Amino acid sequence: MFKADCHLHTTFSPDGRQTPEQLIEASVAAGLTEITVTEHCECNDNAALPPEETPWPDLDVKAYTETYEKLRKTAPIKINIGIEIGQATQGREYAEKMLSAYDWDFILGSLHNVRGEYDFYYMNYEGKDLGMLFSQYFDQLYETVDTCRFSSLSHLYYPVRYIYRQGQTLDLEQFDEKIKLILELLAKKGLGLEINTSSVNDCFGDLVPGYKYAKMFRQLGGEIVTVGSDSHYTEKVGTGIDTAYKMLKEAGFSAVATFEKQKPVFHNIYNI
Ligand SMILES: [Zn+2]
Ligand SMILES: [Zn+2]
Repeated sequence: MFKADCHLHTTFSPDGRQTPEQLIEASVAAGLTEITVTEHCECNDNAALPPEETPWPDLDVKAYTETYEKLRKTAPIKINIGIEIGQATQGREYAEKMLSAYDWDFILGSLHNVRGEYDFYYMNYEGKDLGMLFSQYFDQLYETVDTCRFSSLSHLYYPVRYIYRQGQTLDLEQFDEKIKLILELLAKKGLGLEINTSSVNDCFGDLVPGYKYAKMFRQLGGEIVTVGSDSHYTEKVGTGIDTAYKMLKEAGFSAVATFEKQKPVFHNIYNI
């Protein structure tokens, strides 16, 4: 029975807390039949890290891809090798260099900070104008979809995770017009939308995006959806994938996609 997690980090990402071997073991234990590893590649030269943080080294593409190419020969599970490109609009040459460095199966497009601000992970939201911040975020996310190369757009409203963790809330409805433009462009360009499951069991308590925006994407002609847990450690691998498949059926999708050599492969979710 098909079940795939298409957003995973291991120790090749500076914030990954599981080895590739531990990931494979955890994936099998979670009942997954297919995984796509998507190690971080941040394109803005550590500009989104506070000065007290250790700078992130470049992704070691050779070591990363060789390790997984070797592991997938014997692993009891299908493995695709991908990359999560963060802030390509803030380092276009570097992004292109890293995208050309390997024949990636899958490229996740991400935006973890707006220009001139830290990664949303490190921000203190007390006293912040969240409306202004989100408005900038969605404008720069639109620019990412419009001008960058990727297979599926990751965590559509990434900052909410951290806002809710700091005890604040946000009504996303005020950004519906901006979100609609992003989803419309994704659909028009034949790109994928990721359903990120990492916040299902935390204080935000929903998929990112949830039913409302997944349905909006479908109604705008969107056909490609990928599902990923964004796990950095073993306990989270595969969590929320079933919840996402159920939500996608309700939103009008009959299939989810995985990617091989950047081409979508569709899997009927009514057979699952
Ligand atoms: Zn991310
Ligand atoms: Zn990630």
